[in-house]
Amino acid sequence: MNRQILTDSEIPMIPVISESEGKSLIDRLEQTRALSRAEWTALIHGRTPSLAEYLFERARRTRIRYYGKDIYIRGLIEFTNYCRNDCYYCGIRKSNKNAVRYRLSKDQILSCCETGYQLGFRTFVLQGGEDGWFTEDRITDIVSEIRRRFPDCAITLSIGELPRESYRRFFDAGADRYLLRHETYDSAHYSRLHPASLSASHRQKCLWDLKELGYQVGTGFMVGSPYQTAENLADDMLFLKELNPQMVGIGPFLPHHDTPFAGQPAGTLELTVFMLGLIRLMLPKVLLPATTALGTIAEDGREQGILAGANVVMPNLSPAQVRENYLLYDNKLCTGDEAAESLKILDERFCAIGYHIAVSRGDSLNTENSDAPG
Ligand code: SAH
Repeated sequence: MNRQILTDSEIPMIPVISESEGKSLIDRLEQTRALSRAEWTALIHGRTPSLAEYLFERARRTRIRYYGKDIYIRGLIEFTNYCRNDCYYCGIRKSNKNAVRYRLSKDQILSCCETGYQLGFRTFVLQGGEDGWFTEDRITDIVSEIRRRFPDCAITLSIGELPRESYRRFFDAGADRYLLRHETYDSAHYSRLHPASLSASHRQKCLWDLKELGYQVGTGFMVGSPYQTAENLADDMLFLKELNPQMVGIGPFLPHHDTPFAGQPAGTLELTVFMLGLIRLMLPKVLLPATTALGTIAEDGREQGILAGANVVMPNLSPAQVRENYLLYDNKLCTGDEAAESLKILDERFCAIGYHIAVSRGDSLNTENSDAPG
């Protein structure tokens, strides 16, 4: 059956739920921190604006219980946009001949950290395409040097799927955290978003490896990616519950004009914030970023994310000249409030809704892997 050609009302098997059934599912989620696959599907499929408001009130209450009104910041350093992979959605995919490629040198990366440290950042996130130039030795060397110069900071890597042994070396060199979105749990859906060389099961294996090695792990998925169904999102929730990561990054899919998905519709703010609220109730202590993609899809997207239970933002620390080249999707925020220099403006925006930026490492209260060094 090709789901694509069915309208929402024609999709069989998803039970229609009433407002009161929706509320009781949300109540049970708050109490037990779990739902079944059928319940997740029904709640996601049957969401309404008033159910969303009911959810967000509870998600805010949970977030405030554990994290108060603090918003943690992470300095994002997009250090290379070369990539060996060809993900159909991503603007820096290998086949995009129009992407202007760049790599930061070790000194440039260190000076981003220095600038960030002065601004109050205590977590540096090194994110990039899967770039073979940055060999295991080179990454290990960069991580060791950041660790030596900034002993009170957390170092987060987000450089894709690598052998367990590479992950182990980076961890031993001082990396504490790793972000690797699972993108979508369902292997059939995964294969509609990626070339055959990539698989959902390998990506998930990497996440289990990272966790076993002692990393604080972040995973997540795109909301509204092409062909995604409510069942796919239900599976994503079940996977998150099982993995129990320290961080979950989700954001709307946004098309990039030079990719095979150029003509696909974007995900919505509405569904993204609904999913944020659900994740906050399922994993009360998780670190939940209001992502750049959320800030890109709507002017007040990040504020709406915070009001749905998010508690992290990741401003850009990359040098201004290269920012516009790390274009994962069209219109990606890379100046203005997104720029780390504008931290004060960002803080003012959050103050206006009753929250504030906190300067600390902002470790997850989900302590399972918290004995990481540094
Ligand atoms: N190479 C690294 C970093 C990827 S970029 C890795 O493989 O993990 C970080 C995230 O951006 C991806 O995991 C993906 O979820 C998101 N992303 C990429 N293209 C996107 C798009 N077109 N719209 C929304 N999010 C996108």
